[in-house]
Amino acid sequence: MAGLLAAAAAPGSRVRLYETAGVTDVRLEPDSATLTSREGETFEASLVAGADGRNSICRAAAGIATRAWQYEQAAVVTSFHHTRPHGGVSTEFHRPAGPFTTVPLPGDRSSLVWVERPDEARRLSALDDGAFKAALEARLQGLLGPVGDIIPRAMFPLSGLTAEVFGRARVALIGEAGHVIPPIGAQGLNLGLRDAATLADCVADAMAAGGDPGAQTTLDAYSARRRVDILSRTATVDVLNRSLISGFLPVHLARGLGLLALQALGPLRRLAIREGLGPSGDLPDLLKPDGARLLAERARTGLRDSAA
Ligand SMILES: Cc1cc2nc3c(=O)[nH]c(=O)nc-3n(C[C@H](O)[C@H](O)[C@H](O)COP(=O)(O)OP(=O)(O)OC[C@H]3O[C@@H](n4cnc5c(N)ncnc54)[C@H](O)[C@@H]3O)c2cc1C
Repeated sequence: MAGLLAAAAAPGSRVRLYETAGVTDVRLEPDSATLTSREGETFEASLVAGADGRNSICRAAAGIATRAWQYEQAAVVTSFHHTRPHGGVSTEFHRPAGPFTTVPLPGDRSSLVWVERPDEARRLSALDDGAFKAALEARLQGLLGPVGDIIPRAMFPLSGLTAEVFGRARVALIGEAGHVIPPIGAQGLNLGLRDAATLADCVADAMAAGGDPGAQTTLDAYSARRRVDILSRTATVDVLNRSLISGFLPVHLARGLGLLALQALGPLRRLAIREGLGPSGDLPDLLKPDGARLLAERARTGLRDSAA
């Protein structure tokens, strides 16, 4: 957000930020898109980056169908203060009902995603603060020392969703508007960041060719470039999650052997971490070092920087 505010404030900037309580209508015509805000203002654009979450009205307006599914799991989410430093490390315990994950926040705080069967998640959510703190400390097994203050908990049923395409009718789907996966392996947010960076590439290519950034050719290129990453991550996370909750012993053995191999083999572990952060193949400009300059160059010349 700070970067966006700075870009909008820069002299000669073409970035405009509008504060609104929400977009209520998305009208898509062959040559342009018109968005209407709750305040009654309208905005015209040639391309809409639909980053409006899993119930995206942009996706609905573009008539993009989805495949959606549910898991017999729910996540209890909160953040808490702790006495032992996290050292910038995120820890994921793989348990029979799903992952239990701490993610480091600034200072001695971590956010928590605790996945359980729905009944147990409801029970944990309903505990008073003292009882929840005791349950959390027991589950952490001393990892972060005694737990301090905890913010109010929220509970999310776990579900998945994949859009049939990631761009159509002047709308490009970004983040959970196009794909929802269970919170395991910290993949969700990274996928969304790669969507945004790839869309920037596709728009830059269209502009360099003097084309329309919202044309179907641009959206088809975007959809094609995102497809493999999104579908392969969705499948991997789905299999990993289902292997946790499976009652079938060989499935647990296979997952255990895989994790053991990752622990024992340094190069394999490093490869998994690198691929977990982002695929090594067709990296969008914005995710490369010096990405903003590369992207500006790409929009001007239409050429990829082959040295990058
Ligand atoms: C319990 C849980 C734990 C998770 N943990 C992790 C993790 O550890 N690591 C990770 O990488 N990912 C994690 N994820 C996934 C991550 O939260 C999502 O990938 C990410 O939030 C998706 O971002 P998004 O912007 O696509 O959607 P959202 O975060 O849903 O944001 C959509 C935004 O659009 C706005 N919006 C919606 N409709 C409109 C409208 N009509 N007009 C204007 N604005 C609108 C909403 O207000 C919202 O601000 C987790 C998810 C869950 C549920």
